[in-house]
Amino acid sequence: MAEYVFPKINAHCITVNGHHLVFSPGTAPPMRVGDAAFDLVQNCSGMTIRESAEWLRERHGETSGHVARQLAEIADLGYFSEPQPDLEDCTNNLPPPANFGICITHKCNMRCRYCFAGGLREADEPEDISYDTACAAIDFIFDVVQPPWANISLGITGEPQLRWDLIRDVADYGRKKSEESGIGVRFHITTNGLHASPEMLDYLQEHPEDMGVTLSWDGPPDVHNRQRLSRDGADTYERVSRTFELLRDSMKTRPSVTATVCVSEPDMAGVFAHLFEEGVRDLTIKQTRSVAPAITITEESLPAFKASFAELAELLLRADDAQMERLFTLAKDDALGRYIYRIAKRESFLYRCPGGRCGYDIDTNGDIYPCASLVGVTDYRMGNVRTGFTKQAEKFFLEDTSLPKMQACQDCWAKYYCGGPCTYVSALTCGRFDVPYGPDCELIKYLIELAGYVVARLAVERPGLLPHVLSLREPVPMGPRPEALCRRAYDPLWGLPSEAWRVADPIVLTGSRDAGGYQRRRRPKNNKAAVHLKWDDEFLYLMTEVYGSSPAPPTTADVEWWFRESIQFAIDPGNDGGESRYPWKLPEGDYEYGVAGVDGKACIYDCQANPLRPSESGKALITREDDVITYKVAIPWQQVSEFAPSVGAECRFSIVVNDSDEGIRGWLQWTNGLAIRKAPARFGLLRLVE
Ligand code: SF4
Ligand code: SF4
Repeated sequence: MAEYVFPKINAHCITVNGHHLVFSPGTAPPMRVGDAAFDLVQNCSGMTIRESAEWLRERHGETSGHVARQLAEIADLGYFSEPQPDLEDCTNNLPPPANFGICITHKCNMRCRYCFAGGLREADEPEDISYDTACAAIDFIFDVVQPPWANISLGITGEPQLRWDLIRDVADYGRKKSEESGIGVRFHITTNGLHASPEMLDYLQEHPEDMGVTLSWDGPPDVHNRQRLSRDGADTYERVSRTFELLRDSMKTRPSVTATVCVSEPDMAGVFAHLFEEGVRDLTIKQTRSVAPAITITEESLPAFKASFAELAELLLRADDAQMERLFTLAKDDALGRYIYRIAKRESFLYRCPGGRCGYDIDTNGDIYPCASLVGVTDYRMGNVRTGFTKQAEKFFLEDTSLPKMQACQDCWAKYYCGGPCTYVSALTCGRFDVPYGPDCELIKYLIELAGYVVARLAVERPGLLPHVLSLREPVPMGPRPEALCRRAYDPLWGLPSEAWRVADPIVLTGSRDAGGYQRRRRPKNNKAAVHLKWDDEFLYLMTEVYGSSPAPPTTADVEWWFRESIQFAIDPGNDGGESRYPWKLPEGDYEYGVAGVDGKACIYDCQANPLRPSESGKALITREDDVITYKVAIPWQQVSEFAPSVGAECRFSIVVNDSDEGIRGWLQWTNGLAIRKAPARFGLLRLVE
């Protein structure tokens, strides 16, 4: 038999703080390896196993010979070989158009040092959008968007509060279109927070389901005040931090925050630590970009920038159990956070960004641009909302700006993590879209290495945490909340046959799309379920019938029951969708129960008290007939404090049906706030009726 010869290994090897990391671009997340494997990956291309084992023994001693065999096995799995994604595939696999921005006004009441407004812009557009153009923009969005959602940012330049009247009218028009088309809509604004007008606060309170807010806040007072000035040159820190509090009170959740860090004084860790301390839990840190060298990263400012990001990575990793929220605070678009999520999710990219492919921004004159930074840069104009896209523009953004067409990127080890140059930065710094800006590339590659280091250390040191970090960054649906009814039971149901528990309008979990419009995470094979809910003065009665379930291994006390056949349901009695401090636990005052057959007995778990110890309260029964499993549960209302059962009473509710076909956990869910991450904001509404 021919001896195995290592193929050409396509790996990028680095050592960060004594940890050896091997990146296999595009095929796998970085691996943290020992000295011998690290040495071998860098030197074994073209060697046979025997040669490499000898080579290793000479350098690393007797015990290292097996490393070569293990490495060969890994290489056989496809690691280290370069994937060959073709352009056709990558355009087919692009997510559908879903993210849009509309410029409401270019006016602003601040004068920030780094403001990009005006950077490359040359179009002669009106300061404010007219109501007619805004409606045409909404019509265009609903023409091109793919269901189920249109995410529309209102006010991508300027300060939206200066035209709140328009924001309100445009959002109303968008909601009308949403009703007509059946496509959900959610809006977002980004404010400088110089003030929080009562109109805005009231409006946010009235529309908690579909209006999100991001606040621009650059960190500690000295940093923020140096960078973000009012028109008359005054400090703005106090006013912005007050706006954060007001927004938090109005929205009942924390607004997202974007912090811009200037190249002249990068202190990512300081900015992060300050904002975290102030209560920010969804943070995007980005660096300034401008035509001015004092503001854009250069060869000179790069080392300080890198060092600052490294400090931030260490700060995240230092989080002990009580500070884990830090790990969940960086948003998906954050400069470092985005690579942490990409690497952890093993995603490879053939484009730098969605701009011009599945995300578009619309100027006040109705012109369409690929992204907010390029609004008004007429070379990159893609068409107009009244006439549609130009063919050339579509081709340009789908083909010409794709990674396979970027000659300068072909030999870059980081290309599938990066996706190619940012059109805006390249145009800004190099005068053309297809030439990456050197210092920007250096920073990106460094951030990818750093992100790999964070992921590799988390995978080794806190393996249970990574899935939570990822799930937390999934967007919180802000559309209409799904609703279910809980019907009055006129007799106590316990002991009565299933017929008495059934209602005409159960929650139906189909697996492909739940009743509430939320996608399941991983569907158990062939399953469907119906959840029947009833109430009387003493109990909440819940009967779940699961159809098409193949017999699963019995659940025993030493197995976590949610990995086997079981149900989980949760109640937020205050109906406030309050945030949970940890992704695996609901906030104080909310309730989660699990029901599983353990060692042949139906057990109820009060997950808030102890998810692993059966609880004494409540009643549960599990029966199986052919391929139908029936769970019956009665929870005394007494346990659910703050909730008085009566006709018309409402609470938030979510349910998950777990299964373990083929030994892999799968589940059906009604709303996605329970299975991976506990998020009452994502629960549906349960109403008690006659
Ligand atoms: S880091 Fe630079 S060279 Fe590498 S893929 Fe990204 S833009 Fe291209
Ligand atoms: S072109 Fe550059 S600035 Fe615009 S969205 Fe893409 S990455 Fe961001």
